[in-house]
Amino acid sequence: MNNNLFAALRAAFPAELHSVAIETADTPEPLYYTWRDIERGTAMLANLIDSLNLPPDSRIAVQAEKSVEALMLYLAVLRAGHVFLPLNTAYQAAEIGYFISNAEPAVVVCAGKNFGWVSKAAFLSGTAHVFTLNEDRSGTLLDRAAFHSDQHQVAVRRGDDLAAILYTSGTTGRSKGAMLTHANLLSNAQVLKDFWGWTDAAAKGRQDVLVHALPIFHVHGLFVASHCALLSGARMLWFSRFDARATVARLPEATVFMGVPTLYVRLLAEPGFTREACRNMRLFVSGSAPLLIETFNEFRERSGHTILERYGMSETVMLTSNPYRPESARRGGTVGLPLPGVQLRVRDDKGGPLGDSEVGGIEVKGPNVFKGYWRMPEKTADEFTTDLWFKTGDVGRVDASGYVTIVGRSKDLIITGGYNVYPAEIEGFVNELPGVAESAVVGVPHPDFGEAVVAVVVARPGATPDAMAIVAQLKSQIAAFKVPKRVFMVTELPRNAMGKVQKNLLRDEHKALFAA
Ligand code: AMP
Repeated sequence: MNNNLFAALRAAFPAELHSVAIETADTPEPLYYTWRDIERGTAMLANLIDSLNLPPDSRIAVQAEKSVEALMLYLAVLRAGHVFLPLNTAYQAAEIGYFISNAEPAVVVCAGKNFGWVSKAAFLSGTAHVFTLNEDRSGTLLDRAAFHSDQHQVAVRRGDDLAAILYTSGTTGRSKGAMLTHANLLSNAQVLKDFWGWTDAAAKGRQDVLVHALPIFHVHGLFVASHCALLSGARMLWFSRFDARATVARLPEATVFMGVPTLYVRLLAEPGFTREACRNMRLFVSGSAPLLIETFNEFRERSGHTILERYGMSETVMLTSNPYRPESARRGGTVGLPLPGVQLRVRDDKGGPLGDSEVGGIEVKGPNVFKGYWRMPEKTADEFTTDLWFKTGDVGRVDASGYVTIVGRSKDLIITGGYNVYPAEIEGFVNELPGVAESAVVGVPHPDFGEAVVAVVVARPGATPDAMAIVAQLKSQIAAFKVPKRVFMVTELPRNAMGKVQKNLLRDEHKALFAA
Protein backbone atom coordinates (compact mmCIF):
# COMPACT_ATOMS: atom_id res chain seq x y z
CA MET A 1 0.00 0.00 0.00
CA ASN A 2 1.35 3.41 -0.91
CA ASN A 3 0.72 6.07 1.76
CA ASN A 4 2.26 8.83 -0.32
CA LEU A 5 0.08 11.95 0.10
CA PHE A 6 0.46 12.68 -3.60
CA ALA A 7 -1.09 9.30 -4.48
CA ALA A 8 -4.18 10.21 -2.45
CA LEU A 9 -4.44 13.65 -4.04
CA ARG A 10 -3.92 12.18 -7.50
CA ALA A 11 -6.66 9.59 -6.90
CA ALA A 12 -9.10 12.45 -6.23
CA PHE A 13 -8.51 14.20 -9.57
CA PRO A 14 -11.76 14.19 -11.58
CA ALA A 15 -12.22 11.57 -14.28
CA GLU A 16 -12.28 14.34 -16.90
CA LEU A 17 -8.58 15.17 -16.78
CA HIS A 18 -9.05 17.80 -19.47
CA SER A 19 -11.21 19.99 -17.24
CA VAL A 20 -9.65 23.07 -15.64
CA ALA A 21 -8.00 22.54 -12.24
CA ILE A 22 -6.42 25.97 -11.79
CA GLU A 23 -7.06 29.29 -13.49
CA THR A 24 -4.68 32.16 -12.82
CA ALA A 25 -6.46 35.39 -11.93
CA ASP A 26 -3.64 37.94 -11.96
CA THR A 27 -1.25 36.95 -14.72
CA PRO A 28 -1.24 39.32 -17.75
CA GLU A 29 -3.41 36.77 -19.57
CA PRO A 30 -5.35 34.09 -17.69
CA LEU A 31 -3.61 30.69 -17.74
CA TYR A 32 -5.65 27.52 -17.55
CA TYR A 33 -4.12 24.37 -16.07
CA THR A 34 -6.09 21.21 -16.59
CA TRP A 35 -5.88 18.22 -14.26
CA ARG A 36 -3.83 16.56 -16.98
CA ASP A 37 -1.41 19.51 -16.91
CA ILE A 38 -0.98 19.01 -13.14
CA GLU A 39 -0.47 15.29 -13.70
CA ARG A 40 2.08 15.80 -16.48
CA GLY A 41 3.87 18.78 -14.94
CA THR A 42 4.37 17.04 -11.60
CA ALA A 43 5.57 13.88 -13.43
CA MET A 44 8.19 15.84 -15.36
CA LEU A 45 9.41 17.64 -12.25
CA ALA A 46 9.46 14.37 -10.28
CA ASN A 47 11.48 12.74 -13.07
CA LEU A 48 13.94 15.63 -12.93
CA ILE A 49 14.27 15.12 -9.16
CA ASP A 50 14.71 11.35 -9.64
CA SER A 51 17.44 11.98 -12.20
CA LEU A 52 19.53 13.71 -9.50
CA ASN A 53 19.84 10.39 -7.61
CA LEU A 54 19.29 11.97 -4.23
CA PRO A 55 19.52 9.98 -1.01
CA PRO A 56 16.16 9.07 0.58
CA ASP A 57 14.43 11.84 2.54
CA SER A 58 16.39 14.58 0.84
CA ARG A 59 15.16 18.07 1.63
CA ILE A 60 14.22 20.27 -1.29
CA ALA A 61 14.17 23.88 -0.13
CA VAL A 62 12.12 26.35 -2.14
CA GLN A 63 12.04 30.12 -1.91
CA ALA A 64 10.00 31.16 -4.90
CA GLU A 65 7.21 33.63 -5.62
CA LYS A 66 3.78 32.06 -5.69
CA SER A 67 2.94 30.41 -9.00
CA VAL A 68 1.11 27.31 -10.17
CA GLU A 69 4.52 25.87 -11.08
CA ALA A 70 5.71 26.39 -7.49
CA LEU A 71 2.66 24.43 -6.32
CA MET A 72 3.47 21.72 -8.86
CA LEU A 73 7.01 21.62 -7.50
CA TYR A 74 5.61 20.90 -4.03
CA LEU A 75 3.47 18.10 -5.46
CA ALA A 76 6.43 16.76 -7.45
CA VAL A 77 8.61 16.58 -4.34
CA LEU A 78 5.90 14.49 -2.64
CA ARG A 79 5.53 12.42 -5.78
CA ALA A 80 9.29 11.71 -5.90
CA GLY A 81 9.20 10.79 -2.21
CA HIS A 82 11.40 13.59 -0.85
CA VAL A 83 10.81 16.31 1.74
CA PHE A 84 9.46 19.73 0.78
CA LEU A 85 10.85 22.74 2.64
CA PRO A 86 9.09 25.99 1.76
CA LEU A 87 10.69 29.28 2.73
CA ASN A 88 8.98 32.62 3.21
CA THR A 89 9.71 34.88 0.24
CA ALA A 90 10.49 37.74 2.62
CA TYR A 91 13.53 35.96 4.11
CA GLN A 92 16.88 37.61 3.44
CA ALA A 93 20.45 36.27 3.27
CA ALA A 94 21.04 35.74 7.00
CA GLU A 95 17.76 33.88 7.45
CA ILE A 96 18.17 31.75 4.33
CA GLY A 97 21.74 30.98 5.41
CA TYR A 98 20.42 29.62 8.71
CA PHE A 99 17.70 27.46 7.14
CA ILE A 100 20.05 26.01 4.56
CA SER A 101 22.81 25.23 7.07
CA ASN A 102 20.25 23.72 9.45
CA ALA A 103 18.25 21.65 6.95
CA GLU A 104 21.13 20.76 4.58
CA PRO A 105 18.87 20.47 1.56
CA ALA A 106 20.05 18.43 -1.43
CA VAL A 107 18.30 20.85 -3.77
CA VAL A 108 17.52 24.54 -3.44
CA VAL A 109 15.12 26.36 -5.76
CA CYS A 110 15.13 30.17 -5.70
CA ALA A 111 14.16 33.18 -7.80
CA GLY A 112 16.66 33.98 -10.56
CA LYS A 113 17.27 37.42 -9.07
CA ASN A 114 18.48 35.82 -5.81
CA PHE A 115 20.61 33.12 -7.41
CA GLY A 116 23.92 34.79 -6.48
CA TRP A 117 23.52 34.89 -2.72
CA VAL A 118 21.26 31.85 -2.36
CA SER A 119 23.61 29.59 -4.33
CA LYS A 120 26.54 30.82 -2.24
CA ALA A 121 24.77 29.81 0.98
CA ALA A 122 23.68 26.53 -0.61
CA PHE A 123 27.09 25.50 -1.86
CA LEU A 124 28.66 26.41 1.51
CA SER A 125 26.30 23.88 3.10
CA GLY A 126 27.09 21.19 0.58
CA THR A 127 23.96 21.53 -1.55
CA ALA A 128 24.83 20.20 -5.01
CA HIS A 129 21.84 21.50 -7.00
CA VAL A 130 20.45 25.01 -7.19
CA PHE A 131 17.69 25.76 -9.69
CA THR A 132 15.82 28.94 -10.43
CA LEU A 133 12.08 29.41 -10.76
CA ASN A 134 10.57 32.79 -11.55
CA GLU A 135 7.06 34.08 -11.27
CA ASP A 136 6.78 34.25 -15.07
CA ARG A 137 7.57 30.51 -15.37
CA SER A 138 11.12 31.11 -16.59
CA GLY A 139 14.22 29.66 -14.90
CA THR A 140 16.41 26.58 -14.98
CA LEU A 141 14.01 24.31 -13.08
CA LEU A 142 11.37 24.23 -15.79
CA ASP A 143 13.98 24.36 -18.57
CA ARG A 144 15.49 21.17 -17.20
CA ALA A 145 12.15 19.50 -16.42
CA ALA A 146 11.08 20.01 -20.05
CA PHE A 147 13.55 17.29 -21.07
CA HIS A 148 11.94 14.69 -18.84
CA SER A 149 9.16 12.23 -19.47
CA ASP A 150 5.60 13.07 -18.44
CA GLN A 151 5.08 9.55 -17.12
CA HIS A 152 6.12 8.91 -13.54
CA GLN A 153 5.48 6.16 -11.02
CA VAL A 154 4.60 7.73 -7.65
CA ALA A 155 7.28 6.85 -5.04
CA VAL A 156 6.10 4.48 -2.33
CA ARG A 157 6.05 6.12 1.10
CA ARG A 158 4.94 4.96 4.53
CA GLY A 159 2.50 7.11 6.48
CA ASP A 160 5.16 8.19 8.94
CA ASP A 161 7.74 9.11 6.31
CA LEU A 162 8.48 12.83 6.15
CA ALA A 163 6.60 14.90 3.58
CA ALA A 164 7.53 18.43 4.59
CA ILE A 165 9.49 20.53 7.04
CA LEU A 166 7.96 23.86 7.97
CA TYR A 167 10.13 26.30 9.84
CA THR A 168 8.08 28.02 12.53
CA SER A 169 7.99 31.79 12.40
CA GLY A 170 9.73 31.70 15.83
CA THR A 171 9.81 35.17 17.31
CA THR A 172 12.09 34.11 20.16
CA GLY A 173 15.29 32.21 19.51
CA ARG A 174 16.01 30.32 16.33
CA SER A 175 13.11 29.06 14.31
CA LYS A 176 12.56 25.32 14.41
CA GLY A 177 11.81 22.91 11.56
CA ALA A 178 8.50 21.12 12.22
CA MET A 179 8.65 17.66 10.58
CA LEU A 180 5.30 16.67 9.07
CA THR A 181 4.60 13.21 7.69
CA HIS A 182 2.47 12.05 4.79
CA ALA A 183 -0.05 10.69 7.33
CA ASN A 184 -0.14 13.99 9.28
CA LEU A 185 -1.02 15.94 6.16
CA LEU A 186 -3.39 13.44 4.57
CA SER A 187 -5.38 12.71 7.73
CA ASN A 188 -5.89 16.44 8.30
CA ALA A 189 -6.80 17.12 4.67
CA GLN A 190 -9.42 14.36 4.70
CA VAL A 191 -10.93 15.62 7.96
CA LEU A 192 -11.15 19.20 6.67
CA LYS A 193 -12.62 18.14 3.35
CA ASP A 194 -15.44 16.27 5.09
CA PHE A 195 -15.90 18.71 7.95
CA TRP A 196 -16.20 21.75 5.70
CA GLY A 197 -18.62 20.08 3.33
CA TRP A 198 -16.43 19.82 0.24
CA THR A 199 -18.05 16.53 -0.69
CA ASP A 200 -21.54 17.93 -0.14
CA ALA A 201 -21.07 20.54 -2.82
CA ALA A 202 -20.00 17.95 -5.37
CA ALA A 203 -22.86 15.67 -4.35
CA LYS A 204 -25.33 18.45 -5.08
CA GLY A 205 -23.93 18.52 -8.55
CA ARG A 206 -22.26 21.84 -7.86
CA GLN A 207 -18.50 21.92 -8.12
CA ASP A 208 -16.62 23.98 -5.58
CA VAL A 209 -14.39 26.83 -6.74
CA LEU A 210 -11.76 28.06 -4.29
CA VAL A 211 -10.30 31.56 -4.38
CA HIS A 212 -6.67 30.81 -3.53
CA ALA A 213 -5.10 34.10 -2.49
CA LEU A 214 -2.76 32.98 0.33
CA PRO A 215 0.99 32.47 0.11
CA ILE A 216 2.12 28.87 -0.41
CA PHE A 217 5.10 28.87 1.96
CA HIS A 218 2.81 28.49 4.97
CA VAL A 219 0.47 25.84 6.37
CA HIS A 220 -2.68 27.84 5.53
CA GLY A 221 -2.19 28.31 1.78
CA LEU A 222 0.01 25.30 1.06
CA PHE A 223 -1.80 22.63 3.05
CA VAL A 224 -5.25 23.74 4.18
CA ALA A 225 -6.35 25.54 1.02
CA SER A 226 -4.54 23.52 -1.67
CA HIS A 227 -5.19 20.10 -0.16
CA CYS A 228 -8.92 20.73 0.32
CA ALA A 229 -9.29 21.77 -3.32
CA LEU A 230 -7.08 19.01 -4.75
CA LEU A 231 -8.69 16.31 -2.63
CA SER A 232 -12.12 17.40 -3.84
CA GLY A 233 -11.19 17.78 -7.48
CA ALA A 234 -12.28 21.42 -7.11
CA ARG A 235 -11.15 24.27 -9.34
CA MET A 236 -8.91 27.00 -7.94
CA LEU A 237 -8.92 30.66 -8.94
CA TRP A 238 -5.26 31.39 -8.34
CA PHE A 239 -4.08 34.82 -7.15
CA SER A 240 -0.32 35.22 -6.78
CA ARG A 241 -1.06 37.91 -4.19
CA PHE A 242 -4.22 39.13 -2.50
CA ASP A 243 -5.94 42.15 -3.97
CA ALA A 244 -9.32 43.01 -2.47
CA ARG A 245 -10.84 44.56 -5.57
CA ALA A 246 -9.67 41.80 -7.90
CA THR A 247 -10.93 39.17 -5.46
CA VAL A 248 -14.34 40.81 -5.20
CA ALA A 249 -14.56 40.88 -9.00
CA ARG A 250 -14.10 37.10 -9.15
CA LEU A 251 -16.12 36.13 -6.06
CA PRO A 252 -19.36 35.53 -7.97
CA GLU A 253 -17.67 32.54 -9.67
CA ALA A 254 -16.39 31.11 -6.38
CA THR A 255 -17.83 29.03 -3.56
CA VAL A 256 -15.01 29.00 -0.96
CA PHE A 257 -12.54 31.62 0.28
CA MET A 258 -9.80 31.17 2.86
CA GLY A 259 -8.04 34.12 4.42
CA VAL A 260 -6.13 35.49 7.35
CA PRO A 261 -8.01 38.18 9.33
CA THR A 262 -6.27 41.04 7.51
CA LEU A 263 -7.75 39.85 4.22
CA TYR A 264 -11.24 40.05 5.71
CA VAL A 265 -10.60 43.60 6.93
CA ARG A 266 -9.47 44.53 3.41
CA LEU A 267 -12.51 42.89 1.81
CA LEU A 268 -14.75 44.93 4.08
CA ALA A 269 -12.95 48.12 3.02
CA GLU A 270 -13.90 47.35 -0.59
CA PRO A 271 -17.19 49.06 -1.57
CA GLY A 272 -17.93 46.34 -4.15
CA PHE A 273 -17.98 43.68 -1.45
CA THR A 274 -21.72 43.05 -1.18
CA ARG A 275 -24.21 40.24 -0.71
CA GLU A 276 -24.56 40.17 -4.46
CA ALA A 277 -20.82 39.56 -4.91
CA CYS A 278 -21.05 36.62 -2.48
CA ARG A 279 -24.15 35.10 -4.03
CA ASN A 280 -22.53 31.78 -4.91
CA MET A 281 -20.27 31.52 -1.88
CA ARG A 282 -20.86 28.75 0.63
CA LEU A 283 -17.87 29.18 2.96
CA PHE A 284 -15.45 31.81 4.26
CA VAL A 285 -12.69 30.40 6.48
CA SER A 286 -10.42 32.50 8.69
CA GLY A 287 -7.34 31.52 10.65
CA SER A 288 -3.61 31.96 11.37
CA ALA A 289 -4.30 34.91 13.67
CA PRO A 290 -7.24 36.02 15.85
CA LEU A 291 -10.25 37.42 14.01
CA LEU A 292 -11.63 40.50 15.76
CA ILE A 293 -15.23 40.13 16.83
CA GLU A 294 -15.97 43.46 15.08
CA THR A 295 -14.76 41.99 11.79
CA PHE A 296 -16.80 38.83 12.38
CA ASN A 297 -19.97 40.90 13.03
CA GLU A 298 -19.43 43.45 10.28
CA PHE A 299 -18.78 40.67 7.79
CA ARG A 300 -22.05 38.93 8.65
CA GLU A 301 -23.91 42.17 8.34
CA ARG A 302 -22.39 43.03 4.95
CA SER A 303 -22.26 39.67 3.23
CA GLY A 304 -24.92 37.59 4.95
CA HIS A 305 -22.20 34.98 5.61
CA THR A 306 -20.75 33.95 8.95
CA ILE A 307 -16.97 33.54 8.86
CA LEU A 308 -15.90 30.11 10.05
CA GLU A 309 -12.84 30.56 12.26
CA ARG A 310 -10.43 27.69 12.75
CA TYR A 311 -7.16 27.26 14.65
CA GLY A 312 -4.00 25.36 13.89
CA MET A 313 -0.25 25.67 13.60
CA SER A 314 2.72 24.48 11.57
CA GLU A 315 3.39 21.63 14.01
CA THR A 316 -0.14 20.21 13.95
CA VAL A 317 -1.88 21.49 10.83
CA MET A 318 -5.53 22.16 11.85
CA LEU A 319 -6.75 21.51 15.38
CA THR A 320 -10.15 23.12 15.87
CA SER A 321 -12.90 24.53 13.73
CA ASN A 322 -16.21 26.21 14.24
CA PRO A 323 -19.08 24.04 12.97
CA TYR A 324 -19.88 24.03 9.28
CA ARG A 325 -23.56 23.42 9.91
CA PRO A 326 -25.57 25.02 11.27
CA GLU A 327 -23.99 28.34 10.39
CA SER A 328 -25.58 29.81 13.52
CA ALA A 329 -23.34 27.54 15.65
CA ARG A 330 -20.24 29.48 14.54
CA ARG A 331 -19.25 31.61 17.51
CA GLY A 332 -17.24 34.77 16.93
CA GLY A 333 -14.20 35.15 19.17
CA THR A 334 -13.84 31.36 19.47
CA VAL A 335 -11.95 28.92 17.28
CA GLY A 336 -14.67 26.29 17.60
CA LEU A 337 -14.37 22.67 18.67
CA PRO A 338 -11.57 20.11 18.29
CA LEU A 339 -11.73 18.54 14.82
CA PRO A 340 -12.64 14.83 14.55
CA GLY A 341 -9.65 12.78 15.72
CA VAL A 342 -8.06 15.69 17.60
CA GLN A 343 -7.92 15.62 21.39
CA LEU A 344 -7.43 18.95 23.15
CA ARG A 345 -7.00 19.81 26.84
CA VAL A 346 -6.05 22.83 28.92
CA ARG A 347 -3.47 22.53 31.69
CA ASP A 348 -2.16 24.80 34.44
CA ASP A 349 1.51 25.79 34.86
CA LYS A 350 2.28 22.55 36.66
CA GLY A 351 0.49 20.34 34.13
CA GLY A 352 -2.58 19.88 36.31
CA PRO A 353 -6.12 19.71 34.87
CA LEU A 354 -8.33 22.81 34.73
CA GLY A 355 -12.11 23.19 34.80
CA ASP A 356 -14.50 24.65 32.23
CA SER A 357 -13.47 28.11 31.05
CA GLU A 358 -10.31 28.18 33.18
CA VAL A 359 -7.36 29.64 31.30
CA GLY A 360 -4.22 27.53 30.76
CA GLY A 361 -1.84 26.00 28.25
CA ILE A 362 -3.43 24.16 25.32
CA GLU A 363 -2.17 20.61 24.73
CA VAL A 364 -3.17 18.35 21.84
CA LYS A 365 -2.92 14.82 20.51
CA GLY A 366 -3.96 13.32 17.18
CA PRO A 367 -2.86 11.83 13.86
CA ASN A 368 -2.13 15.36 12.65
CA VAL A 369 0.51 16.11 15.31
CA PHE A 370 4.02 16.35 13.86
CA LYS A 371 6.92 14.00 14.41
CA GLY A 372 9.22 16.49 16.11
CA TYR A 373 11.59 19.36 15.38
CA TRP A 374 14.27 18.68 12.80
CA ARG A 375 17.55 17.80 14.50
CA MET A 376 16.34 19.15 17.86
CA PRO A 377 15.54 16.08 19.98
CA GLU A 378 15.79 17.98 23.28
CA LYS A 379 13.54 20.79 22.10
CA THR A 380 11.07 18.17 20.83
CA ALA A 381 11.12 16.35 24.18
CA ASP A 382 10.52 19.67 26.00
CA GLU A 383 7.41 20.37 23.95
CA PHE A 384 5.70 17.05 24.70
CA THR A 385 4.35 15.98 28.10
CA THR A 386 5.35 12.60 29.54
CA ASP A 387 2.02 11.18 28.32
CA LEU A 388 2.83 12.51 24.82
CA TRP A 389 0.55 15.50 24.48
CA PHE A 390 2.04 18.33 22.42
CA LYS A 391 2.25 21.64 24.27
CA THR A 392 1.11 24.13 21.65
CA GLY A 393 2.43 27.20 23.48
CA ASP A 394 -1.00 28.76 23.08
CA VAL A 395 -2.98 29.86 26.10
CA GLY A 396 -6.72 29.43 26.04
CA ARG A 397 -9.86 28.02 27.59
CA VAL A 398 -12.58 25.53 26.73
CA ASP A 399 -16.15 26.33 27.77
CA ALA A 400 -18.76 23.86 28.97
CA SER A 401 -19.97 23.19 25.42
CA GLY A 402 -16.44 22.47 24.19
CA TYR A 403 -15.74 25.71 22.29
CA VAL A 404 -12.11 26.78 22.46
CA THR A 405 -11.00 30.40 22.86
CA ILE A 406 -7.38 31.42 22.31
CA VAL A 407 -6.15 34.00 24.79
CA GLY A 408 -2.61 34.37 23.43
CA ARG A 409 0.79 32.75 23.17
CA SER A 410 2.30 31.65 26.48
CA LYS A 411 5.40 33.67 25.68
CA ASP A 412 3.22 36.78 25.29
CA LEU A 413 1.80 36.33 28.78
CA ILE A 414 2.69 39.36 30.90
CA ILE A 415 3.63 38.92 34.53
CA THR A 416 3.45 42.24 36.29
CA GLY A 417 4.06 42.47 40.04
CA GLY A 418 3.44 38.71 40.19
CA TYR A 419 0.04 38.93 38.49
CA ASN A 420 -0.68 37.23 35.16
CA VAL A 421 -2.10 39.47 32.46
CA TYR A 422 -3.42 37.95 29.24
CA PRO A 423 -2.87 40.45 26.43
CA ALA A 424 -5.96 39.30 24.50
CA GLU A 425 -8.20 40.17 27.43
CA ILE A 426 -6.87 43.72 27.62
CA GLU A 427 -6.96 44.10 23.84
CA GLY A 428 -10.63 43.10 23.97
CA PHE A 429 -11.38 45.98 26.36
CA VAL A 430 -9.26 48.51 24.47
CA ASN A 431 -10.88 47.60 21.13
CA GLU A 432 -14.32 48.30 22.59
CA LEU A 433 -13.44 51.91 23.43
CA PRO A 434 -14.81 54.67 21.19
CA GLY A 435 -12.58 55.54 18.24
CA VAL A 436 -10.36 52.45 18.59
CA ALA A 437 -9.90 50.16 15.57
CA GLU A 438 -7.49 47.64 17.06
CA SER A 439 -4.69 47.24 19.55
CA ALA A 440 -1.79 45.11 20.69
CA VAL A 441 -0.82 44.72 24.32
CA VAL A 442 2.71 43.67 25.29
CA GLY A 443 4.84 43.43 28.40
CA VAL A 444 8.09 45.40 28.66
CA PRO A 445 10.77 45.27 31.41
CA HIS A 446 9.96 47.34 34.48
CA PRO A 447 12.28 47.87 37.47
CA ASP A 448 9.55 47.45 40.12
CA PHE A 449 6.98 45.16 38.53
CA GLY A 450 9.22 42.89 36.47
CA GLU A 451 7.09 43.69 33.46
CA ALA A 452 4.74 46.54 32.70
CA VAL A 453 1.65 46.44 30.48
CA VAL A 454 1.90 48.64 27.38
CA ALA A 455 -0.78 49.11 24.73
CA VAL A 456 -0.22 50.09 21.12
CA VAL A 457 -3.45 51.38 19.59
CA VAL A 458 -4.72 52.10 16.08
CA ALA A 459 -7.56 54.63 15.77
CA ARG A 460 -10.59 54.21 13.52
CA PRO A 461 -10.44 56.37 10.38
CA GLY A 462 -11.32 59.94 11.31
CA ALA A 463 -11.22 59.31 15.06
CA THR A 464 -8.56 60.70 17.40
CA PRO A 465 -8.85 58.82 20.69
CA ASP A 466 -6.57 60.17 23.37
CA ALA A 467 -4.02 57.93 25.07
CA MET A 468 -4.71 59.36 28.52
CA ALA A 469 -8.45 59.00 28.03
CA ILE A 470 -7.98 55.34 27.10
CA VAL A 471 -6.11 54.73 30.33
CA ALA A 472 -8.77 56.57 32.32
CA GLN A 473 -11.61 54.57 30.76
CA LEU A 474 -9.85 51.25 31.32
CA LYS A 475 -9.30 52.11 34.99
CA SER A 476 -13.04 52.06 35.53
CA GLN A 477 -13.40 48.67 33.83
CA ILE A 478 -10.53 46.41 34.83
CA ALA A 479 -8.19 45.76 37.75
CA ALA A 480 -5.48 48.40 38.12
CA PHE A 481 -2.62 45.93 37.52
CA LYS A 482 -4.07 45.15 34.07
CA VAL A 483 -4.38 48.76 32.95
CA PRO A 484 -1.61 49.72 30.51
CA LYS A 485 1.01 51.95 32.10
CA ARG A 486 1.52 53.56 28.72
CA VAL A 487 -0.58 53.79 25.56
CA PHE A 488 0.93 54.58 22.16
CA MET A 489 -1.15 55.66 19.16
CA VAL A 490 0.13 54.31 15.82
CA THR A 491 -1.25 54.20 12.28
CA GLU A 492 -0.83 50.45 11.94
CA LEU A 493 0.43 47.40 13.81
CA PRO A 494 3.46 45.52 12.47
CA ARG A 495 2.25 42.26 10.93
CA ASN A 496 3.93 39.38 9.16
CA ALA A 497 2.76 37.90 5.87
CA MET A 498 0.17 35.75 7.67
CA GLY A 499 -1.41 38.73 9.38
CA LYS A 500 0.05 37.96 12.81
CA VAL A 501 0.95 41.00 14.89
CA GLN A 502 4.70 40.92 15.47
CA LYS A 503 4.67 41.55 19.20
CA ASN A 504 8.39 40.92 19.43
CA LEU A 505 8.94 44.11 17.37
CA LEU A 506 6.69 46.09 19.70
CA ARG A 507 8.43 44.70 22.78
CA ASP A 508 11.78 45.61 21.26
CA GLU A 509 10.69 49.10 20.37
CA HIS A 510 9.49 49.84 23.89
CA LYS A 511 11.93 47.79 25.93
CA ALA A 512 13.76 50.79 27.39
CA LEU A 513 10.58 52.65 28.29
CA PHE A 514 10.91 52.10 32.04
CA ALA A 515 14.66 51.66 32.20
CA ALA A 516 15.74 52.77 35.68
P1 AMP B 1 1.88 29.10 12.40
O1 AMP B 1 2.64 27.92 12.86
O2 AMP B 1 2.71 30.15 11.74
O3 AMP B 1 0.70 28.69 11.58
O4 AMP B 1 1.31 29.82 13.69
C1 AMP B 1 0.47 29.11 14.55
C2 AMP B 1 -0.04 30.01 15.63
O5 AMP B 1 -0.95 30.98 15.09
C3 AMP B 1 -0.87 29.27 16.65
O6 AMP B 1 -0.06 28.60 17.59
C4 AMP B 1 -1.69 30.39 17.24
O7 AMP B 1 -0.93 31.12 18.19
C5 AMP B 1 -1.95 31.29 16.04
N1 AMP B 1 -3.27 31.05 15.45
C6 AMP B 1 -3.60 30.28 14.41
N2 AMP B 1 -4.92 30.33 14.16
C7 AMP B 1 -5.45 31.17 15.09
C8 AMP B 1 -6.76 31.66 15.38
N3 AMP B 1 -7.81 31.32 14.65
N4 AMP B 1 -6.90 32.50 16.42
C9 AMP B 1 -5.86 32.87 17.18
N5 AMP B 1 -4.60 32.46 16.96
C10 AMP B 1 -4.39 31.62 15.91
